[in-house]
Amino acid sequence: MADEKKQSIDEKLVILFQSMYEMTNPECAKCRAPRSCCDAMYCHCAEEVAREEWGVDVTPLKTDHPTLPFMGPTGCVLEPHLRPLCTLHTCDINSIGLKKGDPEWTNKYFKLREQIDELENFRQDLKDRESWIDHT
Ligand code: SF4
Ligand code: SF4
Repeated sequence: MADEKKQSIDEKLVILFQSMYEMTNPECAKCRAPRSCCDAMYCHCAEEVAREEWGVDVTPLKTDHPTLPFMGPTGCVLEPHLRPLCTLHTCDINSIGLKKGDPEWTNKYFKLREQIDELENFRQDLKDRESWIDHT
């Protein structure tokens, strides 16, 4: 039962992160310095999230980019849910907490982010409960 629940949460999270990517990616497509916010440190974070949260080994996806292990010729090679920090990031959101002049976009962004947070918390609760049961 717990496994089924976790699978259903995971499936929903994948969809929500894809929707978030579809919101943030066009913002970054207009960037004057595309991908300048990428850093090997975030690639390593993504690698860890993929392994710890999703049980996915992304090592085989590493590219030959000189500094960013997951940067391919046309952009990041990782799916949006495997690199949550990057998917959620836009310059406006991270600097001023909204998209300038677009309250509709901002509301949609934060609604989506709230749904993601809720599901991630729920998934963490399930994990904690399972590990508590394993230790009793
Ligand atoms: S987050 Fe900012 S710096 Fe990075 S690609 Fe998007 S707009 Fe450009
Ligand atoms: S978007 Fe991809 S390449 Fe850029 S920092 Fe994140 S994981 Fe690395």
